Amino acid sequence: MLNPSQKRQKLIQAVRLYPIITVALLFFAYLAGGFSDKNNSIIPKDLTLGILTFYIFFAPAIYILGFIVVGHASDRERRQLIQNQPRLNYDDAFALPSEEMRGYKLAVITEREPTFRGLTGDSYTADDSAICTKFPEHTPPVSSCECGFYAYRNRADAKFEGSLNPDTFLLEVDLYGIGFRYENGFRAETQVVKQIILPKRCMRCRIFRPTVFSISHRMGYQNYSWMQWQVRCNLCTMSFKDTDKLSIEEMQEKLGLAIQ
Ligand SMILES: [Zn+2]
Ligand SMILES: [Zn+2]
Repeated sequence: MLNPSQKRQKLIQAVRLYPIITVALLFFAYLAGGFSDKNNSIIPKDLTLGILTFYIFFAPAIYILGFIVVGHASDRERRQLIQNQPRLNYDDAFALPSEEMRGYKLAVITEREPTFRGLTGDSYTADDSAICTKFPEHTPPVSSCECGFYAYRNRADAKFEGSLNPDTFLLEVDLYGIGFRYENGFRAETQVVKQIILPKRCMRCRIFRPTVFSISHRMGYQNYSWMQWQVRCNLCTMSFKDTDKLSIEEMQEKLGLAIQ
């Protein structure tokens, strides 16, 4: 049985197929003579137009319906998790659910002195404790707040999120200290980044194996430009100055962790 987040992933993957299916459909309609006015075509023109009109209106409607259903399912799952929470006594550290909190997450690597930055914009080192930016008096995680380090329990969930954020790196992390389960994974006090799982292809050309980290700049809105590190192939870093490159081993050393 798929959980709501897996269903959401399947739906988004299906949406990506929509243009391909559309082109294929038009092509077959054309081959079958569906667009010709001659009477000897395999499919009459009226039928082609009928099918296409039906498809144009109903395929998006089915997708939208799917998203509404999955959205309701994940809301229900969230409500159930919240309802279960007060039953656990987090004031007593020994009553906490004991579970090894190994997970996966996404981060970009920024700054000249390489630093991880999460998708929410918080920077952290390879071995770090969470800080609550909303309430300084919190020691994260606090059950009623959003603070703490987050990680997906399943590598597939993190990888999928990565496919929506192609400039990010997939990290394998261990979480320690007080921890909570949330719908897709864990939220905890302390995080140690075990390794960066490097992409199989260069982050620029998406063809060759990545061999070196290089700095890429990006111009943003309202003077908000920033730099980040990418792994690229030799070809895509040929024109780079040595000061803008780091070997995989150097990056590993600077961040203080293992790179696969
Ligand atoms: Zn907090
Ligand atoms: Zn390349």
